[in-house]
Amino acid sequence: FEAKKLKNRYCFFDKGLAEQLHQRVDIETELKHAIENKELYLTYQPQICSAHGSVKGVEVLLRWHNRKLGLIAPDKFIPIAEETGLIADIGEFVIQQALYDYAQNLKYTEISLSINVSAYQLMYTPLFDILKHHVEHYQISPNRVILEVTESIFIEDKGAVQGLFEKLMSYGFLISLDDFGTGYSSLSQMRDYPIHELKIDRSFITHIHEKDQDAALLHQIVSIAKCHDIVTVAEGIEVTAQHEIVRTLGIDIEQGYLHAKPLEIDALKAYLAANTLTQKACC
Ligand code: C2E
Ligand code: MG
Ligand code: MG
Ligand code: MG
Repeated sequence: FEAKKLKNRYCFFDKGLAEQLHQRVDIETELKHAIENKELYLTYQPQICSAHGSVKGVEVLLRWHNRKLGLIAPDKFIPIAEETGLIADIGEFVIQQALYDYAQNLKYTEISLSINVSAYQLMYTPLFDILKHHVEHYQISPNRVILEVTESIFIEDKGAVQGLFEKLMSYGFLISLDDFGTGYSSLSQMRDYPIHELKIDRSFITHIHEKDQDAALLHQIVSIAKCHDIVTVAEGIEVTAQHEIVRTLGIDIEQGYLHAKPLEIDALKAYLAANTLTQKACC
C-alpha cells in the first residue's frame, strides 16, 4: 500500500532545485581539493573592548576562492564540509595557519585569537591534540586561544561534551558560545558547561536602537551572563547607535562592520598599527 501510494506521488523538481543540487555537487567536488590547490585563506575580524575602544582580540574567518566557482561564503561551504567530514582537514588547516599567523605577527601583543570549531571537530577529531601540538610548536600561550562553538554542540552527549570542554579548559584554552540565542541553548548551559564567553547573535543586536523590547531582552541576557562571570560579546555592530546601547548595557566586547570588516593578515597588521590602544587587554 505504501509503495503504491508513493508511486502516485509527484516529485516537484523545478529548475531552481536542480540548480541547487548541481551547485552542491560542484562545491563538494571542488572543496575536496581546496587545501591542496591553496584556495583557502584566512581573514581576521577585530574585536573591540566596548568601554575603552581598544582591540581585545580577533576572530578567524575562513575564506574560499575557487577557480571555477569564485568566492564562496562559509555559510555555504562549511555545512557541506561538516556533512562530508572534510571539516576535519579544513579545520586543522585553519588552526595551523591561524596559529602560524599569530606567532608571526601577534605573539607579543595581548590580543586573543578566536577560532570557530565545528561540533564535528570536537566530537570526531583529536581537536585537543591538534591544538596542543600547534600551540606548543609556535610557543603560544593556550589562554590566548578562544574556541568558538555553536549551540549545535548541545545535541551531543552531555557528559562527553563536558569532558572535552574540561580537558580543553584545564590546559588553558577558552570556550566561547557562538551565535548565542539562535539554537539549542538554554540558560542552564551557562551553569553546566565551563563557558568563558557568550557571543550574542547578531539577530539580537540588529534592532536594539529601534526597539525597546530588543534592548530589554539584550539587557536580560547580559545580566544572566554576568551572574555567571561570563564575558559578553555583541556580534554585528554596524552603527554607532548600536555601539552606544551595547556599551551602556555593559557588554564587554563588540565585533562588527562599524569597527572593522574581516581583514587579511597584512591589512590586519596595518589596522593594528593605526590603533594605538591595541596593546591593552581589557576583558
Ligand atoms: P560566525 O562565527 O558567527 O562569524 C560572524 C559572521 O558575521 C562572519 O561571517 C562575519 O564576517 C559576519 N559579520 C561580522 N560583523 C558583521 C556585521 O557588522 N554585519 C554583518 N551583517 N555581518 C557581520 P562569515 O565570515 O561569512 O562567516 C559565517 C560563518 O561561517 C561564521 O559565523 C562561522 O559559523 C562559519 N565559519 C567561518 N569560518 C569558519 C571556520 O574556520 N571554521 C568553522 N567551523 N566555521 C567557520
Ligand atoms: Mg564565530
Ligand atoms: Mg557568531
Ligand atoms: Mg554564525
